[in-house]
Amino acid sequence: MMDSYRHKGLRARLIAEIQGKGITNERVLQAMDTIPRHLFLDSAFAEQAYMDKALPIGAAQTISQPYTVAYQTMLLDPQPTDTILEVGTGSGYQAAVLSLLCKKIYTIERQKSLYEYTAPLLIKLGYVSIRTLFGDGFLGSTRFAPFDKIIVTAGAEEVPPALKDQLKIGGQLVIPAGPSQDKRMLRLTKLSEDSYDTETFEIFRFVPLLKGVTTV
Ligand code: SAH
Repeated sequence: MMDSYRHKGLRARLIAEIQGKGITNERVLQAMDTIPRHLFLDSAFAEQAYMDKALPIGAAQTISQPYTVAYQTMLLDPQPTDTILEVGTGSGYQAAVLSLLCKKIYTIERQKSLYEYTAPLLIKLGYVSIRTLFGDGFLGSTRFAPFDKIIVTAGAEEVPPALKDQLKIGGQLVIPAGPSQDKRMLRLTKLSEDSYDTETFEIFRFVPLLKGVTTV
């Protein structure tokens, strides 16, 4: 499992492309310039790793489009002191990007097969600040709550109440949500124990946030 000059070159082009699409946050761009996205994909898709598109990762799921990863990361605005929860580990790529920008990441996946593939991969690649959990992210993680920030990388019908509960006061939750397949990107800021400010952003397509877990 290797990074190479060729991959670095392709990656630099991808970063320029994302920048051209309006992502200006230097820390985000730099983190994405550092993480070798091809290592999070099956070798069958490695050639496409540095195109700005979502790709299959098995179990009917996808690694998010790089633009989307950049967009959500920009909204989350991770700080070096932050403890972050990610719902939807998938390939582990988004967690790896975040790990360069914050103190600790907990990432939770509901599909056993993906969890069993990605948890050891993240360890093998040396991302020691990421802890991968198996479970239903709709419920968050009471064990490791509260969090400074929470990011949901699957499309929700509504904002899961447990995730709001598990934010620190002043904390923020970035989540694509809405009743139709097209999801509106939302950023909630927790103002007090029971009040939240909601900002709305662009429309995105995501695989669905599902309840419960699959054990195969
Ligand atoms: N962040 C991932 C994106 C993967 S797609 C990456 O960088 O590759 C979204 C993932 O969310 C899928 O793996 C899907 O199985 C998972 N998911 C959907 N509903 C979930 C839930 N309730 N809890 C945890 N994970 C969930």
